[in-house]
Amino acid sequence: MPAARLVIHGGCGVLPRAGMSAAREAGFRASLRCSLEAGWAVLARGGASMDAVVAAIAVMEDDPNFNAGHGSAFNADGGHELDASIMEGMGLHAGSVASSRRIRNPIRVVAELARRGSDPLMLAGEGADRWAERNGFAMVDNAHFATEWRREALREIKARETAGTMSAAPESEKHGTVGAVALDAAGHLAAGTSTGGYTNKLVGRVGDSPIIGAGTWADDRTCAISATGKGEFFIRKALAHEIHARMRWGGQSLEAAAGAMIHGELDGWAAGAGLVAIDREGNFTLPYNTEGMYRGHASAAGIEVAVYAD
Ligand code: ASP
Repeated sequence: MPAARLVIHGGCGVLPRAGMSAAREAGFRASLRCSLEAGWAVLARGGASMDAVVAAIAVMEDDPNFNAGHGSAFNADGGHELDASIMEGMGLHAGSVASSRRIRNPIRVVAELARRGSDPLMLAGEGADRWAERNGFAMVDNAHFATEWRREALREIKARETAGTMSAAPESEKHGTVGAVALDAAGHLAAGTSTGGYTNKLVGRVGDSPIIGAGTWADDRTCAISATGKGEFFIRKALAHEIHARMRWGGQSLEAAAGAMIHGELDGWAAGAGLVAIDREGNFTLPYNTEGMYRGHASAAGIEVAVYAD
């Protein structure tokens, strides 16, 4: 049986290295470590991969450093709409919410949808919020998700829109997301993703993160994937499922399949993109095409985190 492992990302929308102080970077690294510790504690006591994914992501949703939960990007109206999904690889159960405005930890709600047998699998908007409230999940005002630095990012993006300089905007101003993939001691895979989407998105815009097969996928026969980057491209490429399909039907390794999507299929699409992936043997990969990606992994050998290429 392969050894348990957890791999996470906090989005490929990293602050440009030139603008990242040592203290700020240390803060991101500490945040990643907290998430990994929470998820690894589940795997280390023999817990299920899905529970580890939830534990790791819930920590990042509550952390203002990341674009998910508290700290989410602002939409064009100055509010927040949250997307999340989860999938487990044994029974292919999944859960998803889109455009939630009041669920404190969307990852906990999508996990409950998956556990109940995935019918409904996906809930959107007010319906998702009502279901979560009815089922006893922690609810908050929309303002709970606001942070000053994301408000500043909205101001910047709106100014660029007016000036016609959107294409020069750094990835950090635009987006982010958090995600986790895990293999447990019983050999089962799971993947989850949670996001506030991208800054200045239209109200009602839904990205790849809640779309099973685009931003999230898990199948014990192949791999578990969580993606970050411009969701519209991932939906059009069925990115996460495509990696599974390349492995299952094309015989590709995890690294080849994931690398082909991030460094090949998206070439020429000007899409900032990254993902974390793990296969049934415990091999893992964390490709991205941006300046960096908040990321890390945990196993019995310890915890490692990184932001930029080194
Ligand atoms: N994938 C997310 C979305 O499109 C954003 C991101 O990961 O940066 O909503």
